[in-house]
Amino acid sequence: MRTYQDTDTLTVFESALFRTTTIMIVGSDHLLLVDPNWLPDEIDEIGRQVDKYKGDRDCHLLFTHSDYDHIIGYGRFRDFNVIASRAFVDQAKREDILQEIRDFDDQYYIERDYPILYPTVNTVIDAPVHSIRLGGEDYEIHQAPGHNDDSIVVLNRSRGILVAGDYLSNVEFPYVYDSVKRYRSTLDLFEKLLRERNIGLLIPGHGDPTDSQTEMWNRLTEARRYLNDLEESVRRKRPFDLPGLFRRYRFPKIMQSFHEGNHRKMVAYVSGTDGATRNG
Ligand SMILES: [Zn+2]
Repeated sequence: MRTYQDTDTLTVFESALFRTTTIMIVGSDHLLLVDPNWLPDEIDEIGRQVDKYKGDRDCHLLFTHSDYDHIIGYGRFRDFNVIASRAFVDQAKREDILQEIRDFDDQYYIERDYPILYPTVNTVIDAPVHSIRLGGEDYEIHQAPGHNDDSIVVLNRSRGILVAGDYLSNVEFPYVYDSVKRYRSTLDLFEKLLRERNIGLLIPGHGDPTDSQTEMWNRLTEARRYLNDLEESVRRKRPFDLPGLFRRYRFPKIMQSFHEGNHRKMVAYVSGTDGATRNG
């Protein structure tokens, strides 16, 4: 399992699957784990690292959103204080999400030594912005729907670490499961955070963390450009430049299906029925 910036205070684990990230922030008296994911050996390794640092730290587990790949490791860490959004708690599709995990494990003969459960949330994020102190460090949590309907982004203000969830990835274009309008509002939120906060490190849910301001702004610009180009193609009924898209993003087979999902969302947006349903 690849890791990034593997230090005593921050580790980003990268799964072999979809380059999904798990984040472990270790403070002097708290430990925050975000989205522990995918394969049993990977969760074992994450568990070993957590056990190494746990000591008598308060342990928190945060979910950026309820997509099945992000909650798949919950059962291993279910004694932690769980933090997620109100929409995550109220998620109507929780049974479908659990079924996606079971189907995945069935498809690949995967056995886990912990139960597959939908997370029970202890700290529910209700407000648009929620400030919270974990140990000696200040965090700011923002509602960030658009990718899906229960997404949040998390800023560790003490250290300038921005946990972006499934936004601002360098390996994926925007995946809009919820709403184009809300996705764009969340991109505006990122712009505000990049302008007004001291962001030293941005960690996406898939792909590479970056400590470069230029790279952070480029990712934001690129996400907006993709949505604008898609809107343009839908409004003008012109084909989208797929060959161009897949010169930039490397996995055309699966990504084409995500692009097609986005196209349907954009058609809904253009026709004024954006965000009425959630497609996955
Ligand atoms: Zn994801």
